[in-house]
Amino acid sequence: MAYTNSPLATVKVLSPNHSGQRTHAIDTITIHCVVGQCSAKRIGEIFLPTKRQASSNYGIGYDGQIGLYVEEKNRSWCTSSNSNDQRAITIEVASDTTHPYAVTDKAYTALLDLVTDICKRNNIKKLVWSNNKSDRVNHVNGCNMTVHRDYADKSCPGEYLYSRHAAIAAEVNKRLNPAPVVATKLYYVQTGAYGVKANAIKQLNAVKAAGFDAILKKSGLLYKVQVGAYSVKANATAMAAKLKAAGFATYVTTSGGTVVAVEGSTTASDVIKVGDKVKCRPGVTTYSNGVKMPTWVQKSTLYVRQIESNGTIYLVSTLATGNSYTGRVKASDMYKI
Ligand SMILES: [Zn+2]
Repeated sequence: MAYTNSPLATVKVLSPNHSGQRTHAIDTITIHCVVGQCSAKRIGEIFLPTKRQASSNYGIGYDGQIGLYVEEKNRSWCTSSNSNDQRAITIEVASDTTHPYAVTDKAYTALLDLVTDICKRNNIKKLVWSNNKSDRVNHVNGCNMTVHRDYADKSCPGEYLYSRHAAIAAEVNKRLNPAPVVATKLYYVQTGAYGVKANAIKQLNAVKAAGFDAILKKSGLLYKVQVGAYSVKANATAMAAKLKAAGFATYVTTSGGTVVAVEGSTTASDVIKVGDKVKCRPGVTTYSNGVKMPTWVQKSTLYVRQIESNGTIYLVSTLATGNSYTGRVKASDMYKI
């Protein structure tokens, strides 16, 4: 297999400290702590002098920037073990200088992204961690995460990262093998579609006045007044009957459209707000700017982190908090979960 490097690395400071092409396929991840809250560039500079006799494939700065120092094809000098570093991608993460050698949230988030990317490109299907050193160094049961302290009298990667190895494996595995998305078909009960927004609002208010929880949606050029979103068609039909009995013409549709905020009228619970969880509608493959969306993002639960362009664009992230964003998506491509 041809070796590649991570496109997530934005800093490149190639170190002369390596053994040339590795003799073992990449099948292991070894995470280290730098013992210093430095930038990715600075970590690379530390590995520049040949007298240093040390390097790593990657480094992550305190700010989450990722540096490449030894190309993946080459064996880095990182873990005090020839056999480990022949097969491992080694990653130095900026950390505090004292126990438990904590890393910043930004560095940790970048670490998860980088390890996921390394696994994907090198066809590592699953990360397996063990708290048992013998399992790790002997790669028992597919164990493919090792730590520096396995090979040298060191505390590396520090308690903070060491104790998170199981969590790192779990999160990366979730990203590598996302649960299949069951395409949920939703049935909406429509009580009118209007080209003129004001007419739609008039109908919306009439339906609401009759005691129904109606919302206004935009689909194409039309403003639609809808009641409910039902996963079971019979429930939609039952609601349609109730509306009909109240004197409203109804139509059950699976085309939802985008919720339009109507001041003082829209039901708050139906309006997407920051923090809400959404998913891509089936068939959505790109971000709002047309760039291809990775398959795992298409299948992920996304958190709406910011609502933009008058409600038509969401800035989303696969994380509920933090400063990591996945991208911008069209509101009409998403559905609330
Ligand atoms: Zn180390």
